[in-house]
Amino acid sequence: MVRESLETLKDEFLSRIAEGASEEEVERLRIEYLGRKGKLTFLFRGFKELPPEERPELGEALNRLRQFVEDRLEFRLGELKQREKERILKAERVDITLPGSRWERGRIHPLTLVMDEIIDVFLTMGFEIARGPDIEDDYHNFEALNMPPDHPARDMQDTFFVSQDRLLRTHTSPVQIRVMEQRRPPLQIIAPGAVFRHDDDATHSPMFHQVEGFMVDSHIAFSDLKGVLTHFLRQVLRPETGVRFRPSFFPFTEPSAEIDIQCLLCEGGGSTSEGQPCRVCKGTGWLEILGAGMIDPEVFRFVGYNPDQVSGFAFGMGVERIAMLKYGIEDIRLFFQNDLRFLRQFS
Ligand SMILES: [Zn+2]
Repeated sequence: MVRESLETLKDEFLSRIAEGASEEEVERLRIEYLGRKGKLTFLFRGFKELPPEERPELGEALNRLRQFVEDRLEFRLGELKQREKERILKAERVDITLPGSRWERGRIHPLTLVMDEIIDVFLTMGFEIARGPDIEDDYHNFEALNMPPDHPARDMQDTFFVSQDRLLRTHTSPVQIRVMEQRRPPLQIIAPGAVFRHDDDATHSPMFHQVEGFMVDSHIAFSDLKGVLTHFLRQVLRPETGVRFRPSFFPFTEPSAEIDIQCLLCEGGGSTSEGQPCRVCKGTGWLEILGAGMIDPEVFRFVGYNPDQVSGFAFGMGVERIAMLKYGIEDIRLFFQNDLRFLRQFS
């Protein structure tokens, strides 16, 4: 009788745990069969009412059934866990043969490269670096550089004005004034930085970079200027680069010169190997690269130096122009478009 009910119980349990029982159902079955008020527990309680001779056999059967139920519940749980694991593995499957996303290697911007190179050459010659504000006042940008308000040279520098008196500096020359206002000679300074002019085409950018340089002491001559700049150009460009000085005009230097180098493409010949005029120098064989001169006595007076006691030279160059010549770049806008195909070529 009891044995029969054990068989029934087992069959019933088996059909309920049959494939499809969820984790919650397994837990429910555990309580229903093995819990404090469970069906098996109930049978165990009735056990002591049996006649003693029947107890061993039935006891064993009962224990086996309990073990059986426990094992099946455990097994079902294991099955469910395994299935869940497989589901996750399938859902989160990653194809490790797909190419990964590459980390781009950074490059130094060509303008920074050239700027660093320029600075290095001057540092080896004993120059030190000074900097000034991007937003200047009229006095430092123009007036103290010998360009009074009505001076025609102001028109050559298409100025961005911030207010009546404030402007984006049109050149790095105001740093000259700022340094000389604060210090006494001897001075040997370069001032690299951004400058701004209202101009925008293939060879002009509204923002570009200059390196200003000057040297002031008691006996600085034009030959010093010539030596320093010739050495500089041959270091940055080519050791054999031809250099020539042409008379020119700047309000803040006297005498003034423009410095040309032999064309880097046609090497001064002015034409290609096919006999066509060189497109870089337009057939002249020379390229303008720097402006320079002896600092005008008027400028010294503005900063409180005695022009009878000191002399000096100053020069200024466009970093973009040097980079364009050095690398054969024909459009200045390439520097600022951040096109990786362009930037990747420099290292
Ligand atoms: Zn040329």
